[in-house]
Amino acid sequence: MVEPGKRTKKMRKIFYRTPGGETRTRYKRRKSKKKSCEICGRQIQGKRPGRAYSQKLCPSCLEEFLKAKARAEEGQPIPLKFRHLLKSEAE
Ligand SMILES: [Zn+2]
Repeated sequence: MVEPGKRTKKMRKIFYRTPGGETRTRYKRRKSKKKSCEICGRQIQGKRPGRAYSQKLCPSCLEEFLKAKARAEEGQPIPLKFRHLLKSEAE
């Protein structure tokens, strides 16, 4: 049996044939899914660790969100689509 670390879904099995005709298995880690914007679903291109919401929102949704957040501080209601972001921030 293979090592416990290789018995998981994160590992991809690759079968290859040796010159002697034998089939062997090689294990490789699967590629992770690309991140997408939580609001519009657009794929996030680059991720800067220092940037706010860099792994959650695309640039245009971030701009909209920051505006809504500033307006919320002045007493205006925050749009429904952004409320889950504020909840996760409070925790
Ligand atoms: Zn977006």
